[in-house]
This record gives sequence, structure tokens and C-alpha cells, in this order.
Amino acid sequence: MFRQKDIEMISRRALEELQMKRLKQTVRQAYKNIPFYKEYFSKLHIQPKDIASLKDIRKLPFTTREDLREYYPFGMLAVTKEQVVRLHTSSGTTGKPKAIFFTKKDVDRAAELIARCLIMTGVAKDDVLQNMMTYGLFTGALVMHYGAEKVGVLVIPAGPGNTKRQIALMQDFKTTTLHITPSYALYLASVMQNEGLDPQKNFTLRRAYLGSEPYSEETRKKIEKFFHIDVYNSYGLSEMNGPGVAFECREKNGMHLWEDNFIMEIIDPDTGETKPDGEKGELVLTTLYREAMPILRYRTSDITRILPGKCKCGRTHRRISRIIGRTDDMIIVRGVNIFPQQIERVLMGIKAVAQNYQIVLESYDQMTVRVEIVKELFDGKVDHLVNLRNEITEKIRSEILVRPKVELLEPGTLPVSEGKSIRVIDKRTL
Ligand code: ADP
Ligand code: ZN
Repeated sequence: MFRQKDIEMISRRALEELQMKRLKQTVRQAYKNIPFYKEYFSKLHIQPKDIASLKDIRKLPFTTREDLREYYPFGMLAVTKEQVVRLHTSSGTTGKPKAIFFTKKDVDRAAELIARCLIMTGVAKDDVLQNMMTYGLFTGALVMHYGAEKVGVLVIPAGPGNTKRQIALMQDFKTTTLHITPSYALYLASVMQNEGLDPQKNFTLRRAYLGSEPYSEETRKKIEKFFHIDVYNSYGLSEMNGPGVAFECREKNGMHLWEDNFIMEIIDPDTGETKPDGEKGELVLTTLYREAMPILRYRTSDITRILPGKCKCGRTHRRISRIIGRTDDMIIVRGVNIFPQQIERVLMGIKAVAQNYQIVLESYDQMTVRVEIVKELFDGKVDHLVNLRNEITEKIRSEILVRPKVELLEPGTLPVSEGKSIRVIDKRTL
């Protein structure tokens, strides 16, 4: 297989040389084969030869989701249709989907990146990975599947849902590793709890990879504690292969973004200006090692920051922090900017809170947080419920500076989604 350590511990200088070489190839390939980029370059009066250093990337145009949608289905393809072996689409919750193509080599390279992530977190051939992401057009499950096979672990292509069967699979095949969304992991925990199953006694779980939607450090801790496992944050997006773009090492302190495959920039989402390491902004990614669909300066909408300093593990690829939110899921109530994750962080840090919650935007001034709390508190007495409601209200208020209405619900009241969870219900636009 690949020489893992060499590329992960590569010196910054050699890494930047490699990036430069691949960036030039990518720019040439995009310019030559994708009319969208050719037109854009001429509008900006630039040519591939103008990209002579890594900093020159700032001369290139951004690519947005709208561009991918506009050129759907084949407009962003840089190879012939015969060379393409796989299609994925990105969920497309708003409007038209985006088509993402892979050549044989792209499939292989995406799998190698995930394999790198798995090995980095200690996975070996004797591990059993239960893949609880949605199989199909979504990249989450399939890309992980191929990567795990490359490492040689046994993969159970369980997909999400049917929680009782999931539990049986885990027990029968001695699953050690889960690939799962944070919301489904919380739900799984609640089902196990109701069934009286003790993850430490009845299972062989060691770790889980959680990604595909934002979650807080508090949620990680809650899941780690319940299952007695290590939870690693996994970041990716279909436009950049899917999972395997950035992943936590065993330090669990930020995600190494594989800079031999992507160039990352953090920009101010309003002005497009580049921000220095350490500052928060929108993540922008350029593919460096893709045949079917090279993408230049893709605006991910994800808000994060590059963590300054070296990781203790010795890997030289820089780390990004947990995703704070998306530029498009920021909500504004009473003129205050709020990310749903700020509310989640507060909730998941409160012991009496169970697994599920929902934010309802009633009007431009009023927001309701509906939250499930542990069953035992519904014992017919109201005092502790009132106290808990006040505690939650106050904690949220001090985090987001807006006082929400809080509703306490019994576990199982709120809907559970199999894919990405819907946390915010916006009644203002209904
Ligand atoms: P869509 O953009 O249509 O939802 P994807 O299914 O490719 O398509 O989802 C990618 C998005 O999911 C990312 O841009 C990011 O917002 C979110 N995401 C993926 N992994 C994580 C993670 N570990 N933490 C937070 N958000 C994540
Ligand atoms: Zn590390």
C-alpha cells in the first residue's frame, strides 16, 4: 500500500513543493477542460502560467455551490464520460443537487485518504467497522466503505436506521468501530439505555467516527462516556470526495486536513479576504489530486479556523478546529447572530438533558428551544421541572444573549432523522 508515514510526516517544505506541483497541474487541467473556468479566467485576465507560487492561488476565482448547480449535470467535468466510473450527488436540500464524478483513480485516491484516517486512529485488520451512514448517492457511506476495505477491516454496510438490528449486528459480529452521525449516535444511546444494555458489558466497541453535521465537544463527551469509546471527528463534503478531507488523530485536538490533496484557506465570508492562521472564517478548498472534477477555491460555507502550532502526533498537515457552523445556518433572533451549535453545546453539557432537541424560530424576536430530558424527571412533581427549565433558559441566555422559551419534553417526543438531523424549524418562512 502507500507509505503512510512518509506523506503524513513530510516536511512543510516538501509538502509545499508537492502542493505547488499539483496546483499547477490542477489549474492547467481546469483551464483546458472546463469551459466555466476558461471563461472565468479570461474575465479576470489570468492564465495558468500566472500561478507561480502558492500565494498566487488568491488570484484564482472562487467556485460556489451555485456554480456547481448551474453547470449540473456535466458542466464541471474535466474528463470524458467514458473515463468516469462513479457519480455521487450532494444532498441538495436547497434546490438542484450537485453532481460529483470520480474516475477509477479518484475512487482509489479517496479511499486511500480515508484509509490513512483509519490507520491514524489505530484501526487494524482485526477491526470490524459498522458503517451507519446512508449508502447511495450520498458520499458518506461508500467512500468510507472503500477506505475501510483498503485497510482490510471487516465492513458491515449497515446504513442508518433499524436500530434494534444495528444493535444485534454489533453484538453478533463484535463491532469495534462505528461510522455514524452525531444525532444518530445519541439516538442509538437512548435506545440502548431503554433496552437496559450496558455498552461496557454487552459490546466490543472501541471507537466511533462522527461527522456529516456539526456537533459540540459536549456531545462528543456525552457519546464517549455512554459508549466507553473514543470519538474522532471526521470532516468532509461531497464536493471534495466526501469523508476523509480532515480527520482527528489520537490527540483528538483538531482535524488534520490532508494538504497533499487539498489547499485550504480561511476567508472572511463577506469580503473574500484571506485570514491568518488562528482566525475564524469560511473554509475554502482547492482539490490538488483529482482527475474527473478539479475544483478551484470552493466556498464550503463551513466556519472554522486553522489551529496554530504543531500537533503532538508529529503529522505536519495543519489542523482545523471543529466546524462551528455553516454560513447559511446562522440564525438571527432579535438582531443577534446565533449558530445552532451554541445552543447544542449548552444543552449537552446539562446532565438532565437526554438526546434530542429542536430550535423553533417563532418570529424575528422569539425562539423556542424544545428539549427532551431524562425520563425519571417526569415523576408527577413539577418543582424540579420548573427549576430545570429556568436553569436551561438562563444557561442559553448567557451563551447567546437572547432569552429563549424552553419546553421540556419526554424522551422520544421529537422526530429522529436517519440522515442529517433537522434542528431548526423556521416558522417565519413557512
Ligand atoms: P450537503 O452540503 O448537501 O449537506 P454533504 O452531504 O457533502 O452535502 O455534506 C457536507 C457538509 O456536512 C459539510 O460542508 C459540513 O457542513 C457538514 N459536515 C461534514 N462533516 C462535518 C463535521 N465533522 N462537523 C461539522 N459539519 C460537518
Ligand atoms: Zn495529530
